[in-house]
Amino acid sequence: MLPLAELHLHVEGTLEADLLVTLARRNDVPLPSYDPAELTARYANFGDLQAFLDVYYANLAVLRTEQDFHDLAAAYVTRAAAAGVRRAEIFCDPQTHLANGVPLEVVFGGLGAALAEARANGLSADLIVCFLRDLGGDAAEELLRQALPFREHFIGVGLDSAEVGWPPALFRRAYEMAAAEGLHRVAHAGEEGGPEYVREALDALGVERIDHGNRALEDADLVARLRDERVPLTVCPLSNVALKGVARIEEHPLPRMLELGLVATLNSDDPAYFGGGIDANVAAVRTSLGLTDDDLATLAANSFEAAFIGETDRARWLAEVAAWRAG
Ligand SMILES: [Zn+2]
Repeated sequence: MLPLAELHLHVEGTLEADLLVTLARRNDVPLPSYDPAELTARYANFGDLQAFLDVYYANLAVLRTEQDFHDLAAAYVTRAAAAGVRRAEIFCDPQTHLANGVPLEVVFGGLGAALAEARANGLSADLIVCFLRDLGGDAAEELLRQALPFREHFIGVGLDSAEVGWPPALFRRAYEMAAAEGLHRVAHAGEEGGPEYVREALDALGVERIDHGNRALEDADLVARLRDERVPLTVCPLSNVALKGVARIEEHPLPRMLELGLVATLNSDDPAYFGGGIDANVAAVRTSLGLTDDDLATLAANSFEAAFIGETDRARWLAEVAAWRAG
C-alpha cells in the first residue's frame, strides 16, 4: 500500500453518517433522518461549496462532549492508518464548536486524546486550527487568542470555509500573530477563488502550503513561482468533483500539476461527504486520471516533503516511498 501523508483533512468532515446518528442519539440532537444510508444519499449532489457547508455545519451540532470529539478523531485515524497514512495533519474548526456552545477545552481535550492514542499506535498526527474566513479577520484574531492557552495541542493555523468575497489579506494580523507564536501557516486558496487569492495567501499571510490551489493554473507566472519556490498544493480530487469545481474526475487538473512540476499532494478534504477517504482518492486518480504507480509515488514523496515533520521522519518515509516505487 502507498505510504503517504494526509495534509488536507477536516476532522469535522470525517463525521460518517453512522457516527452522526450515534452522537445525535447520545446527545439528544434532532436529525432530519436516523438512517445512515439516507443521510449519506443526501450528500450525493451538492450544488456548490455553500450547499455543502450548510449541511456540514448543521450536522456538527451533534458534537457536544470530549468523548464525542475523541470518537470522531479516533474513527478517522483508524481508517487513515489502514489506508497507508503515516502522517496526518488534521484541520479543526473551533469557531463552529464555540458557536454551538462547546468550549475549547472540550474540543482540544477530545481531539488531543484521540491523537495521543494514534501516536501510541504508530501514526504521526497533529492538529492545525482553522479560521472560518466568513467570520472575518477580527474573529480569527480572537480565536487565536483564546486558543493559545491550548498551544500544545496544535502546530499551525489554516483558513477555510466559503472563499469568494473573503480574500486572504483580511487575515493578515491573525497570521502575523500565528507567525510570532512559531505556528505553521497554511490557507485554502484557489478552490473557488481565482489565482489572486493564491498570490495573496503567499504574500499577505506568508503561508507554507496552499490548500487546493487549482485555479493557480490560470496564471502562468504564479505557476512558475509555485514551482520554483516549491510551494506544496494539497489537492483533493473527489472533493473538487463533489463541489463542482471540476465537472468530472476525468477533467481534474492533477496530471497537469505534475507535468508542470508543482509539488502536488493527494488528500481527501471531507471524506464523509465526498465519496471516500485517501484510498478512494488514490483509486480515482489511478483509474479515472490514468496516473501511474510512478506518479502516485511522486504524490506520496511530495506529501512527505510538504509535511511539517522532522528530518528523521521525512527520510524514513521517503525511503518507504522509494521502496514502494521500486515495487
Ligand atoms: Zn478543505
